[in-house]
Amino acid sequence: MTNLHYLNEAEVLHNLATRFQIDEIYTYTGNILIAVNPFQALPHLYEPAVMKRYKEAKMGEQAPHVFTIADIAYRAMITEGKSNSILVSGESGAGKTETTKNLMCYLAYLGGNSAAEGQTIEQQVLESNPVLEAFGNAKTARNNNSSRFGKFVEIQFDNVGRISGAAIRTYLLERSRVCQISDPERNYHCFYLLCAAPKEEIEKYKLGDPKSFHYLNQSNCYQLVGVNDANNYLATRRAMDVVGISEEEQEAIFRVVAAILHLGNIDFGNNEGDPESSVLKDDDSKFHLDMTAQLLRCDPESLEDALCKRKMITPDDVIKKSLDISGAIISRDGLAKTIYSRLFDWLVDKINVSIGQDPKSKCLIGVLDIYGFESFESNSFEQLCINYTNEKLQQHFNQHVFKSEQAEYTKEEIDWRYIEFVDNQDVLSLIEKKTGGIIALLDEACLVPKSTHETFAQKLYQTFKDHKRFIKPKLARSEFTIVHYAGEVLYQSEQFLDKNKDYVVPEHQNLLSASQCSFIQRLFPSLSEETSKPSKFSSIGSRFKLQLQQLMEILNSTDPHFIRCVKPNHVLKPSIFENLYVMQQLRSGGVLEAIRIKCAGYPAHKTFEEFLNRYNIIAPEVLTRSYEEKVACKWILEKSEITQYQMGITRVFLKGNQMAELDAQRARIL
Ligand code: ADP
Ligand code: MG
Repeated sequence: MTNLHYLNEAEVLHNLATRFQIDEIYTYTGNILIAVNPFQALPHLYEPAVMKRYKEAKMGEQAPHVFTIADIAYRAMITEGKSNSILVSGESGAGKTETTKNLMCYLAYLGGNSAAEGQTIEQQVLESNPVLEAFGNAKTARNNNSSRFGKFVEIQFDNVGRISGAAIRTYLLERSRVCQISDPERNYHCFYLLCAAPKEEIEKYKLGDPKSFHYLNQSNCYQLVGVNDANNYLATRRAMDVVGISEEEQEAIFRVVAAILHLGNIDFGNNEGDPESSVLKDDDSKFHLDMTAQLLRCDPESLEDALCKRKMITPDDVIKKSLDISGAIISRDGLAKTIYSRLFDWLVDKINVSIGQDPKSKCLIGVLDIYGFESFESNSFEQLCINYTNEKLQQHFNQHVFKSEQAEYTKEEIDWRYIEFVDNQDVLSLIEKKTGGIIALLDEACLVPKSTHETFAQKLYQTFKDHKRFIKPKLARSEFTIVHYAGEVLYQSEQFLDKNKDYVVPEHQNLLSASQCSFIQRLFPSLSEETSKPSKFSSIGSRFKLQLQQLMEILNSTDPHFIRCVKPNHVLKPSIFENLYVMQQLRSGGVLEAIRIKCAGYPAHKTFEEFLNRYNIIAPEVLTRSYEEKVACKWILEKSEITQYQMGITRVFLKGNQMAELDAQRARIL
C-alpha cells in the first residue's frame, strides 16, 4: 500500500480484503505493518527456512511480514547503535500476542548464540511466554487465549548483536477474574491445568473436577477446543524449569493456586440467627478452610478470623467485630485476588532475575504487547486505564508519523510550513493532569471517607463542565462520557473508588506474613518499617500513570516501528472479512489518522525518474529534448496545469488529489 497512489480509507480496506482472501495477511500502509488475523494456522509463514530467507534478503525483496519489521529494527540497531521498539496493538483477539511471539522468535534467531551451552538467554526469553500465559491468560468471549495483562519485553544486545539480557515489564493484571467469571469465559488457565495434573498432585492438593470449585463453576466452560490441559500442565512445568524456577518454587506456586481454589469454596452463614455475624456455613466449608490453611501453611483459626472479623479501634479499646455474610465474602474474594496478583508479580520478578539484565548492553529492542482500545456496553475503571494507555500510544504514534513526514520534507529541502495536526493532548490532560485530572480527582475521592461514586461523578461534572472531551449524559448521576480519539466511551463510575484502592487488609497481611512457608511469607513481606511512618496512600490509577510515564520514557528513547493487528470478524473464523468491523479498527488503531496526517501534507512522493516514466505521455515532447530530469518533471506538471506541487532534491511532492488528476489525464491519452 506504500505504492498506492491514492491513500484513502476505501482503497486501504479493499486492499486488505483482497490480500486476506489469498492468505496474504501482512500489508504495509506507509510505515505501519497491518496484520490481519488469519484464524488458522499458517505454518509455512513462520518456519525456519522462511526466517533464513528474510535474514538474507535485501530490503524490500521479501513480501511484507512481521519478520521484516524485526529485521529492520535489528539492522537499524546494529548500524546506528540506537535502540528500537516495536509496538503491537489491536483489539482483543486481533493477534497481538501471536505477533509478539513471532517477533521474539525471529529476534532470537538473529541474535541467538548457537554456540552457547545449556539454557541460552533467548530460550529463556521465549519460554517466559508459556509461563506468563498460564497465569495471565484466560478464555474470554473475544479470544480463547486472551492476555489479561499488558507486557513490554526489552531484549538487550551486546556490541556484536547477540542477545545478552532481557527484562519483562507487565501492566495491570485483571484481578477480578480470579473470583468472578461469566459464561462462556474461563478463569486463568493455571487453575484448569492444575486440575488436570498427574494423580499424585491431585491427591496431595485434594483437587478434582473443576466443576466442584466456586471460582470455576460460575461459567459452564471448562475445556477449550483443541487444548489439552494435562499436556499443558506438564509443558508449563518444563517452561518453568527453563526460565529458572526451581522444583521447590514450582511446588509452592501450584500449592498457592490450589489454596485459592479451596479458599473460594469457603462459604458463610449467620451465627445463631444474628444477621450481623458470619461463621463457616457447614462441614464442607470447614473442610475447605482447613485445606486452604494447610496449603498456605497458616493456622486455620487465624484464617477464619481474618476472613470473618475485623479489628475495630474504639476510643477505649480495640475490639474484634464480626463481618456480616456479604462482608465475609468480599473479604474472602479480596484475599484470593491479593494472593493471586502477588503470585503473578513474583513470577515476573523471578523470570527477570533468572534471565538477568546485561548492564553493559547499550542497545535494546523493546516489544510492546498491550491491550487495544475498548468500548463495551459497560465500561469501568479498567477500560479507563486501557483507553488512557491507548491515548498515550496514539499520541506517540501521531508524533512519529508526523515527524518522519517532516523529516522527509526537510531532507528534500522543500518549502513546507507546519501542517496542523489534531493532537489528543487535551484528552490526556483530562485524564492525567496532576491537579484536577480524572485520576487525581479519583485519588482525592478515595481519601475522603464519606465519598461515594456519586459524589465523585458530581465532582467530575463540575470540574469538566466546559471541557470539549468530557460529556455528562442527560439525567446521568454517576456516568460520564469521554470523547477519545477513537470515539466516545461511556463509563460507569460505580466501582471506580473500590477498584482504585491499592490496599491489603491488615488482617490478611498479618496472616500470610506469618505463614510457615517461606515462599508465601515472601509474597507478603511484613510492613513493620513502613507502617510506623504515616502510611502514604497508594492507588492503582496513580501507579498505573507512573508506569505508563516510565514506559513512554523508554519508548521515546527508541526508534519506533508499528504493527496494527486487525481482527477480520467477530466469529473467530478463517476467511470471513467484515468490512465495517475492520474499518472501525483501522480508525481506532490510528491507521486512518496516519493517512490523514500524510494527506494534509504531500501524500505522494515520486522520484523524478518514476514520475517521468509514468507521466511522460502527457508531454511526450519533453523526451525529445535534451533535458534534466527535474526540469522535465516541471514541464509535465505545467502542461497539466498543476500548481502547488513541490520539487525536492530527488523527488516530486504532490498534494492529495493531484496524482489522481495526473492519472486521469494519462488515462485520457492512453
Ligand atoms: P490478542 O493478543 O490480540 O488478544 P492473540 O494473539 O491471542 O490475540 O490471537 C488470538 C488467536 O488468533 C490466537 O490464539 C490464534 O488462534 C489466532 N492467531 C492470531 N495470530 C495468528 C497468526 N499469525 N497465525 C495463526 N493464528 C493466529
Ligand atoms: Mg494477547
